Amino acid sequence: MTGKVWFVGAGPGDPELLTVKGRRLLEEAGAILYAGSLVDQAATLFGPAGCVIRDSKDMTLEEMSAWLLEQSARHATVVRLQTGDPGLYGALVEMTRPLTAAGIEWAVVPGVSSAFAAAAAAGETLTLPEITQTVILTRVAGRTPMPPGEELEALAAHRATLCIFLSITLLHEVQRALRAAGWPEDAPILVVQKASWPGEEKIVRGTLADIKQRCQAGKIASQAMIIASPALGAADWPTLARSRLYDPAFAHRFRKATVAAPNSETSA
Ligand code: SAH
Repeated sequence: MTGKVWFVGAGPGDPELLTVKGRRLLEEAGAILYAGSLVDQAATLFGPAGCVIRDSKDMTLEEMSAWLLEQSARHATVVRLQTGDPGLYGALVEMTRPLTAAGIEWAVVPGVSSAFAAAAAAGETLTLPEITQTVILTRVAGRTPMPPGEELEALAAHRATLCIFLSITLLHEVQRALRAAGWPEDAPILVVQKASWPGEEKIVRGTLADIKQRCQAGKIASQAMIIASPALGAADWPTLARSRLYDPAFAHRFRKATVAAPNSETSA
């Protein structure tokens, strides 16, 4: 038999944030290869009795590919379960290419990224009218170098929302880059560790000046999302530019304007 390999986004940690499709595939799986401690709950909760469940923590990419190939010869449905969305820092192509080369069918099921879970945990919006309409998903260089032009300092110059993955141990480098890009010392920064994990989530709010000390005090050194954004804290601002989409003056496909629009440009 030749099975199909599904790369399933497990979401950020809370098993309830798995998609309905991801859950169905886990329930049907003959074998599940999961990515470390962050997503083991979903695999063990939803994998059927008799399903082969393997942690990939101690495996090389070659070993993972070999395992997926081997299991696809035995089971109709094989799941590679990854944290958040498989398309973000998930070594997806490195795993799909050997499958394609071997003639094994595969597909990807998207997942809720930790960037979104972190914003949700803190009740924050990543975009805000007239403040920022752009979200940059990035990291700082660790062992993986950044391609030219993608240094955090260069990206920060846009003053857009930055969701910074894989960088909590490099907070000093994040601070350096934001300062070099001219962000003020009182710019708000949010750090969320284990976003969405029942009972384990930690939310730290600070500023460019003090976020590192606050994370140290909170003992946050892994599995954390850093969000730097001019939209942070907007829930408490005294004034706010209105979202045009819900403005009575703004007509769109589903609603006629009830007052004359000041300008006809569309934004949400
Ligand atoms: N594909 C994943 C990212 C994998 S890279 C996604 O879409 O979320 C691993 C990094 O993701 C971690 O270093 C951390 O920055 C972030 N991360 C993953 N799960 C997280 C969670 N529950 N809370 C906060 N950050 C998380």
